[in-house]
Amino acid sequence: MSRVRHEGPVIVGAGLAGLSAALEAARAGARVLVVTPEPLLSGCSSAWAQGGMAAALTAVDSAELHAKDTLAAGAGLVEPGAAKALTEAGRETVEWLAAQGAPFDRDADGGFVVSLEAAHSVARVARVGGDGAGRAILSAVVAAVRAETMIEVWEDARLKGLSQDEAGRVVGALVERGGRPVEITATAVVLATGGAGGLFAATTTPSALQGEGMALAARAGAEILDPEFVQFHPTAIDVGLDPAPLATEALRGEGARLIDGAGAFLLGEEADADLKPRDVVARAVHAARTAGRGAFLDARTAVGEGFPHEFPAVFAACMRAGLDPRVSPIPVMAACHYHMGGVAADAEGRTTVPGLYAVGECAATGVHGANRLASNSLLEAAAFGRRAGRVASGETGGGRPVATPLAPDLPEAALAELRTAMTAQAGVVRDEAGLTALIALIDRLEARHGPAACLLAARLIAQAALDRHESRGGHYRADYPQKAANAAHTRIRLAGDLALAAE
Ligand SMILES: Cc1cc2nc3c(=O)[nH]c(=O)nc-3n(C[C@H](O)[C@H](O)[C@H](O)COP(=O)(O)OP(=O)(O)OC[C@H]3O[C@@H](n4cnc5c(N)ncnc54)[C@H](O)[C@@H]3O)c2cc1C
Repeated sequence: MSRVRHEGPVIVGAGLAGLSAALEAARAGARVLVVTPEPLLSGCSSAWAQGGMAAALTAVDSAELHAKDTLAAGAGLVEPGAAKALTEAGRETVEWLAAQGAPFDRDADGGFVVSLEAAHSVARVARVGGDGAGRAILSAVVAAVRAETMIEVWEDARLKGLSQDEAGRVVGALVERGGRPVEITATAVVLATGGAGGLFAATTTPSALQGEGMALAARAGAEILDPEFVQFHPTAIDVGLDPAPLATEALRGEGARLIDGAGAFLLGEEADADLKPRDVVARAVHAARTAGRGAFLDARTAVGEGFPHEFPAVFAACMRAGLDPRVSPIPVMAACHYHMGGVAADAEGRTTVPGLYAVGECAATGVHGANRLASNSLLEAAAFGRRAGRVASGETGGGRPVATPLAPDLPEAALAELRTAMTAQAGVVRDEAGLTALIALIDRLEARHGPAACLLAARLIAQAALDRHESRGGHYRADYPQKAANAAHTRIRLAGDLALAAE
């Protein structure tokens, strides 16, 4: 194993959260090393975001109203302090990104153009080029990172473990770079490894995102919060692609309707029926498909001829699959889209382990609860990523690392088996029998292939889903369809090697 000593924080992951942290840490005077397995702008959800970034930007809106909607969507598990910190940072974060060069759509007076998305009480999603928000915002941030001399980026390194000193402080990252193991010692480690969609066969996220950051943090002793809460997007385009292209929710904001194969509305006739919280809409889509009625997004009237310039990314994805959304309804399915749970962290990214920070989708800061409000995640990634970067820049490091084994890879066929089982048993509708069978599969795969990080990530989700005897937000149990009277978090710390101890 080769060893590299880095005098500053190492940031793992190069989506909006990681790069926002990197920029702020560098501007606070730290030398920053960013490690990511793929070239910048590839392999991250940030570049795929379509709708935009939620923030109170208009005269009819306020941070309080945004926080209220965030709390309502989260089904009792949003932490009010975290939601307040997030929503109060909205305008400043959008303006900071605009100052980096993010070309947000503007009206004639120079104000931000905002669109309406599900469960927001007013239009508040700042957009770019219709449905190109993620790539445009991240491109501006990437250009700023490239121009920053204090930031070094490795675009070929994947996290395989966290090194700790004798006191348990995280003092570095073990990565695989060009097929070789490298131990990087650093003053702090900021995890920004994104979500876990790649654990599911039906996903809208890059399939390389497999919850590895969460799993390796858990292995280092970090508390994991609410891993069972996964958001399934109701309108993944079902044209046989992996990952599935997404039909942004903004289409429903524009009036596109969900129908079955016979043309009946899936959620009722009212104009706003399809803008209910994502879990409700996802279950309606799942139920229609399970019943053999099919589920389609009909944008022929609401968007029609405007499709190519109003929603160019969705239009291109449909046309590539031989489907013209101006003349045909789009076949849709519910697919894993966002992980609300993750490494327990505060609004500055601090985890329960000294020296270890977590930001963006791999973190659980309390702002999403059981169900994320649409377009709050880009805001969280940038707002809390920036804060974590500033705090991590002040870290001075710890003692000598003690030896840590590298997590093994899971062979492709085994990963495919896991993904199929996760969608079937830990997907939109869950029950005890399915989750028990899923955990038995994870046991078998682990016995055969060793403790791959993705297996531990899947186990955290499945075990917490099995242990939650209620339905809440993105977690729906067919055998416990009611919401419990009291909302309670799941908090997990690994006890011993693989056993889970929940509080
Ligand atoms: C299709 C789609 C549309 C979306 N639309 C919106 C939207 O309109 N608005 C909104 O707010 N949110 C949206 N989201 C969600 C949002 O994009 C993400 O939650 C957010 O971008 C996450 O940012 P991140 O920086 O935490 O993670 P990501 O952007 O996913 O970046 C994760 C990074 O970690 C790296 N990584 C992963 N594993 C490892 C490892 N083991 N070692 C090293 N590096 C690793 C990846 O390569 C990547 O660089 C959308 C998501 C999808 C999939």
